[in-house]
Amino acid sequence: MRPIKPMSERATMTAMQLQQPGRPLQAATVPVPVPGEDQVLVRVHACAVCRTDLHIVDGDLTQGAYPLTPGHEVVGTVVARGARVEHLQDGQRVGVPWLGFTCGGCRFCRAGQENLCESARFTGYHLPGGYAQYAVADARYSFPIPSGYGDAQAAPLLCAGLIGYRALRMAGEARRIGLYGFGAAAHIVAQVAHHQGREIYAFTRPGDHGAQRFARELGACWAGDSTQPAPQPLDAALVFAPVGALVPAALAAVDKGGSVICAGIHMSAIPSFSYELLWGERMVRSVANLTRRDAEEFLALAPRVPVRTRTEIMPLAAAGEALNRLRSGEVHGALVLMP
Ligand SMILES: [Zn+2]
Ligand SMILES: [Zn+2]
Repeated sequence: MRPIKPMSERATMTAMQLQQPGRPLQAATVPVPVPGEDQVLVRVHACAVCRTDLHIVDGDLTQGAYPLTPGHEVVGTVVARGARVEHLQDGQRVGVPWLGFTCGGCRFCRAGQENLCESARFTGYHLPGGYAQYAVADARYSFPIPSGYGDAQAAPLLCAGLIGYRALRMAGEARRIGLYGFGAAAHIVAQVAHHQGREIYAFTRPGDHGAQRFARELGACWAGDSTQPAPQPLDAALVFAPVGALVPAALAAVDKGGSVICAGIHMSAIPSFSYELLWGERMVRSVANLTRRDAEEFLALAPRVPVRTRTEIMPLAAAGEALNRLRSGEVHGALVLMP
């Protein structure tokens, strides 16, 4: 598509929209949005597909603003700015993540936990996302993209990377780290953890030798089925797969004092388990959303590792097919939509 004059009233764009949870995405022709005072208008170059998008489309998460344009791993160029935007320039390449707005005043915001803000709004859920040719975003939640990354390569950094990084940070000084589910987030975390000198143990769907090979290529010292016991007691486990049964499995794999960190926004029910699995000061916790600090830290760290994302590009119009492929579990790395 040729660049259009963004502020023109008649300018329209294509967006892949969800009318209601559980329905397939549909291509819609909608007006190019006009940025508010604190917003930038971004011409979308790439938007990665996240498992959260799948939960939104499938109706596991139902609090969105419908019709809804998913997509919260957006890379694009600023083409217009609201009156109060000072720190971003036209032509600058930015990334737009899941956290799209916080109130700044609630007790969580004041305590530095804006990821838990009472009035938080999320890109591609409450706010229109990046499965479109253009998107508006609050400039305070839009981050310059490191120059060494192509658009498609950068896109998965914005959720898979950020949430993975936050989850890894929650593991503290843990040396032996288990990764349960080796998709987009784990493939980035593995590289960061390896760079930090940690040992990575990758647990995949039983029999997924492709994912196990991929994990070893990225520095895992062991990779196997999630039904297997860990070869060594782990210090922490990060659970990325939305499978509740992995929580007791991961608890059984961590040593005394270890933690199990659940990084997904949705998970099937966790089966009951014996208290013995938790005993010994083991912990289970979740990681919710991200803060701006996570984004700034991780986008500075990624080029130093350097994190290299494995991506497969699909056209924007194939967003529904991309979600189907993610659901089937056959994706190694990240799918990225390009308009
Ligand atoms: Zn708040
Ligand atoms: Zn995400």
